Amino acid sequence: KVVCVTGASGYIASWLVKLLLQRGYTVKASVRDPKKSSVQLPQIQGANKVLKKRDDPKKTEHLRTLDGAQERLHLFKADLLEEGSFDSGVEGCECVFHTASPFYHDVKDPQAELLDPAVKGTLNVLNSCAKHPSIKRVVLTSSIAAVAYNGKPRTPDVVVDETWFSDPDICKESKLWYVLSKTLAEEAAWKFAKEKNIDMVTINPAMVIGPLLQPTLNTSAAAVLSVIKGAQTFPNATFGWVNVKDVANAHIQAFEIPTANGRYCLVERVAHYSEIVKILHELYPDFKLPEKSADDKPYVPAYQVSKEKAKSLGIDFIPLDVSIKETVESLKEKGFISF
Ligand code: NDP
Repeated sequence: KVVCVTGASGYIASWLVKLLLQRGYTVKASVRDPKKSSVQLPQIQGANKVLKKRDDPKKTEHLRTLDGAQERLHLFKADLLEEGSFDSGVEGCECVFHTASPFYHDVKDPQAELLDPAVKGTLNVLNSCAKHPSIKRVVLTSSIAAVAYNGKPRTPDVVVDETWFSDPDICKESKLWYVLSKTLAEEAAWKFAKEKNIDMVTINPAMVIGPLLQPTLNTSAAAVLSVIKGAQTFPNATFGWVNVKDVANAHIQAFEIPTANGRYCLVERVAHYSEIVKILHELYPDFKLPEKSADDKPYVPAYQVSKEKAKSLGIDFIPLDVSIKETVESLKEKGFISF
């Protein structure tokens, strides 16, 4: 069986390609520019230096050396903003996993850097899919960002589920440009899929952590690194967290299970940064970790996210402490942590 993965050099996509090859698929995988890194994280001390060093032409080597890659992985060059760029890549595929989308917060021009590649890029990929009847299903990597930001209160007794949709106006008011990009991209995708009769499923993960396969640092793994690398305070923020292996697996299950449909939220646990620091402290008592929150306000409360639909994909979530440990061990192994 032949499938396509867009943005294959990314964090989640690299795991997706690895698991697809493991399951015997032939994978057509898009990359943009093997020499270009999308992530800039100036807020982490020393990170730019590390990133620059990592920003080398070997960006796809980790894919080319995966088990089965030599025989069944076919890389092709495509850009989200280039019309028709994905036409030949999706040809002959049974499923297209569209993961490519910029994920970073430090932007100067949100329209050009985030919104256009997310929204126009998604429509560009779906447009290519609409031309090829071999495609039975499109699995779109959306986000909890497209689910939870609708102005409804999120408190410990509230259960967020797949019926929630983020409100673009609220995202705009709060200048949450990445959140807006994912919200508008998913909205546009559902509209297009309905019009063109495309069978589409979306995967809506929260902050994804766990081992890195790629040599560059991605935004969500950097969220863990940021509290380890000498920060004085931790953010007064609460996020859902999920392991990258569960996320990649859910994408494949969403294709393989014929009755899979609609959206799938993926969150193992919602936790404030103070809890992340607490877990890190238990795992690594020698680490110098921040002891206080970045502001004096009460901690942003946790909430719940329904696991019911995720369970129907057979996802038995990897616990948060295991995910944090895997992230740290991987960051160490790749030289992002040198102590
Ligand atoms: P990465 O930054 O690791 O990967 C993003 C990928 O998108 C990269 O391969 C990047 O290519 C590609 N991309 C960005 N802009 C373009 C463009 N203009 N043309 C072609 N490709 C482009 O991020 P993640 O793996 O974390 O994210 C993957 C997907 O998962 C995204 O859709 C993201 O929104 C979503 N997601 C991520 C979460 C997380 O916590 N990590 C949570 C929820 C959703 P290049 O390598 O060339 O820059």
